[in-house]
Amino acid sequence: MDTAKLESAVKLIRKAKYTVAFTGAGISVASGIPPFRGKNGLWNKTSPIFLEIEFFNKKPLQSWKKIKEIFYDSLGDAEPNIAHEVLAKMEKRSFLESVITQNIDHLHQKAGSKYVYELHGTYKQLVCTECSSEYDMSFADLNYLPPTCYICKGILKPDMVFFNEPIPPFAKKRSFEEAEKADVFLIIGTNAEVLPAADIPVTAKKHGAKIIEINIKETHFTREITDVFLQGEAAEIMKQIGKLLYL
Ligand SMILES: [Zn+2]
Repeated sequence: MDTAKLESAVKLIRKAKYTVAFTGAGISVASGIPPFRGKNGLWNKTSPIFLEIEFFNKKPLQSWKKIKEIFYDSLGDAEPNIAHEVLAKMEKRSFLESVITQNIDHLHQKAGSKYVYELHGTYKQLVCTECSSEYDMSFADLNYLPPTCYICKGILKPDMVFFNEPIPPFAKKRSFEEAEKADVFLIIGTNAEVLPAADIPVTAKKHGAKIIEINIKETHFTREITDVFLQGEAAEIMKQIGKLLYL
């Protein structure tokens, strides 16, 4: 690893008044959660049609069977890794204001982060398709699919963003506000190729933030907006950053 680059990134973080992190699948790989896209991505093995909102609405049982298998049978046991933990400690020690994540795995909160904006929602909560009541997933018995609402018997849907569904307005609004305020912006484990997520780091840059990017490979950000590129696994690099910040 490039020590000089690592040190210059840490220096930026120490000097910053408002640091924001933006995370994606790469940060959860060390927690055993496979990325969706890319060579070993889930979508290479399973067609994501069951995550299309039209399919869910038409065939909720079929969709739920797949969703349970892919998300609910494994995510509950997943634990945050050192990268999530370092971000949570940074927040506690006032080195970090918030985390914007594209992950639905709830691992930032599990690690202790308080200000987390989930652009793609969360698997942890279910929402009624009829009356919009919300439930923690621990209230649902997934042995009986599809789970239904206690109030109106409507079908419950995971509160994550399905294909062809819009980004939750509150998370979107807060993410852009955080990006505008940031003077240091960390991109961790994501190439965010999809809009509007891809625009968030660009917004930070336009408003004067220094961009620190942690990714295993260069991305379109690296060429266009990144000031310090730290190449490697999120867990490994964040561990080093944690050490240099004496967390
Ligand atoms: Zn309901």
